[in-house]
Amino acid sequence: MQSLKQNGSDSRSLGKIYYDVLKNEADPNKIALIDKVTKNRLSYGELLDQCLKVGEELKALGVTKGDLVGIVSGNRPEYFVPVLACFFIGATVHPINGIYLLRELKAAFDISKPKIIFATEESLNKVQQLQADTDYIANIINFDGNYLSIIRDRSGLSRDEIVENCDNDAAVILSSSGTTGLPKGVVLTQNNIKCSFNYLKYPYVDLNPDNVLIGMMPNFHVYGFLLGIGNILRLSLTVILQKFQPNQYCEIIEEYNVTTLHIVPSIGVFLAKHPIVENYDFSSVKDILCGAAPLGAEVQSVLEQRFNCKMRQMYGLTETCGVITLVPMGEESKIGGAGKPLPWLDIKIIDIDTKEEMAQGGIGEVCVKTAQNIKGYLNKEEETKSMYLEDGFLCTGDIGYLDDDGELFIVDRLKELIKYKGFQVSPSELEDILNSHEYIVDSAVIGIPDERAGELPMAFVVKRENVDLSEEAVKEFVAHHVSLHKQLHGGVKFIGEIPKGPTGKILWKELRELTK
Ligand code: AMP
Repeated sequence: MQSLKQNGSDSRSLGKIYYDVLKNEADPNKIALIDKVTKNRLSYGELLDQCLKVGEELKALGVTKGDLVGIVSGNRPEYFVPVLACFFIGATVHPINGIYLLRELKAAFDISKPKIIFATEESLNKVQQLQADTDYIANIINFDGNYLSIIRDRSGLSRDEIVENCDNDAAVILSSSGTTGLPKGVVLTQNNIKCSFNYLKYPYVDLNPDNVLIGMMPNFHVYGFLLGIGNILRLSLTVILQKFQPNQYCEIIEEYNVTTLHIVPSIGVFLAKHPIVENYDFSSVKDILCGAAPLGAEVQSVLEQRFNCKMRQMYGLTETCGVITLVPMGEESKIGGAGKPLPWLDIKIIDIDTKEEMAQGGIGEVCVKTAQNIKGYLNKEEETKSMYLEDGFLCTGDIGYLDDDGELFIVDRLKELIKYKGFQVSPSELEDILNSHEYIVDSAVIGIPDERAGELPMAFVVKRENVDLSEEAVKEFVAHHVSLHKQLHGGVKFIGEIPKGPTGKILWKELRELTK
């Protein structure tokens, strides 16, 4: 395992790895990705062809090693074409939520300043507006427009043109709030990704060409991104569902004989409780993995009975390039457990105050040392530094313990992050918006527990004296500035003062008490 602790064990660049697999191992006629609703599809042969052509086009547009390429799109068969094309030419890709409002897009891309953005018919207006408002976007490629002429007219890169020696170069930027503050750009290197691919192999996730998976986890999040490129690497079939719809989700499992379910807790609750689930044959499912947020114990037991297979929980962060704890296939996570540390990384639990490593079973902050750990946040040296201990362990901002069998249990969160249906919501981002309201003096946003969504963003608001401000008006104001998952689904509570410590830090615990 030592070599895996250091790197991704394959000396080729991601570009060369993907080229070799798609060229030499894939059946070119096999469907790689199909959209459940539109039926648009790409075979493995078409996928490689389009990646090479888009790589050539990007080069012709002046994109070189180190340049940034953005994607603003929902999941679709061509989504990973610009991703692999960037791997080929050594550029860095920055995928963003396709439903982001202009304000959110600008905040995300102002960090990375992409030269080229891939958009869809739905996101095109926003991206064009962004291009007009900024000076970094040279070209927009519309998947439903000029993309098609690139695929028609270009001849494609050759293997010799694919870059090498880029282990420490940024492969992708993903958005994360980290332990505090506004969303930042997380830089994942080629080596981070190569290292994380180790868990897509037996005994962790035995992906192979016979596997069928649902591509519903958003590709702009570490979970969907790695799963998406992982499925391609292992030549599996991905059936895309852009937006969760109960019947369609169940139909995919039955119709395509889905073998492995990758879910977040909100989908777990649906599968465990929704009556329509009884109408479908799920016997093809052999493996269920759940990540991104904690799954309730009751839901886990019901799912194991309903699917007659073992349920495994995964724990990880964008900052650790995905999964860091997971039990091997054949084992199940203990009820409420998050899995065991993967063998190529080290996990320790530290005392929150002294930062000293705790004795076995002690509850403290979970820290991890691994080649999967990120290089840092883009242009945020201070935040990057403060995430790491002197001995190289990354502090996750999660509180947990390792039990006698070495399984990790996450019990609380030290950081301010809220997780709504697995999506990150940054309290600071919502507080900034609330505080910009002319009637609001101060605010604090917390996550309140919810069985379906995990947590719901809820605001405590101090309003100006003698003004008329209703809960509805505050919710509408926030909804006007952010996309759906960040809205105040947990409601608004007006209070006289936000409890703060001597340094002005919001006392989250006191606020949480007020919701009980
Ligand atoms: P993200 O970077 O969006 O993947 O968010 C990472 C955070 O999600 C972690 O720091 C945890 O707070 C939470 N999380 C992810 N997986 C789990 C899990 N299995 N159990 C509990 N919390 C989780």
